[in-house]
Amino acid sequence: MIDTHTHSRFSHDGCESIKKMAKTAKRKGLKYLAVTDHCDYDYLAIDGYEYFHQLDLEGYLKEIEKIKEQVEGLDFAVGLELGYHREASKRYLDDIPFDRFDYIINSVHSIGNHDVYFPSYFENKDREKSYKDYLLGVLDSLDAPYPYNTVGHIGYVAKNSLYDDKDLLHSDFPDLIDEILKGIINKDKTLEINANYKNGICMPDISIIKRYKELGGDNITYGSDAHKLSRLCHRYAQIAALIRELGFKHWTVYKNMQPYKIEI
Ligand SMILES: [Zn+2]
Ligand SMILES: [Zn+2]
Repeated sequence: MIDTHTHSRFSHDGCESIKKMAKTAKRKGLKYLAVTDHCDYDYLAIDGYEYFHQLDLEGYLKEIEKIKEQVEGLDFAVGLELGYHREASKRYLDDIPFDRFDYIINSVHSIGNHDVYFPSYFENKDREKSYKDYLLGVLDSLDAPYPYNTVGHIGYVAKNSLYDDKDLLHSDFPDLIDEILKGIINKDKTLEINANYKNGICMPDISIIKRYKELGGDNITYGSDAHKLSRLCHRYAQIAALIRELGFKHWTVYKNMQPYKIEI
């Protein structure tokens, strides 16, 4: 078992100590755990969020590096989840000591002046427009100027969308989604299978993961996106079985930003 996407109390929406997370992962027999707290400079580009609680980078690094020495037998990675926004890209490059991290997830949460998690994003937009704008944001995020390994939770826009047909399927935007998937393959990045989705099993939708495989994609990883201990490895067995059925044999994980494979 692995988990490459987890949040501790260093995230504004997390509550667990990193030490507890690492101990629990060890007890559960995980081979690999990445703690990937939020860095949300995308919010600096959204009106009204100038004072949003941002990650205490130095405190986080200090804490996590201390624990790293105490978790023998567990491959423990120091990670971040960066909220991509074109206007925030330069600041990440300026502020983040990327050489001290093992693993970076690049995620799109915000489009224009909205976090797509909140209903205000969908106001006066039909499904076509709100989903397409989100996907264009994901496509744009592939060219982020900073180092990153994995493209986080494609389909995040569907999480709290107001439409009856919530799930973002490959057939909704085949050309645009193909462009994103080919971009991930050509840039040798990894596609995240994220279990933090209540309308279905995971993000992206299976139809998108299938298409990624058809296009020659092989780098995938599993992340629970747990914000509390009880969600660590959420739906792991179910997702692993599905992924094996699609023909994938390995997860891709990172240490010192370098990829290696772990059998699914
Ligand atoms: Zn996220
Ligand atoms: Zn997350």
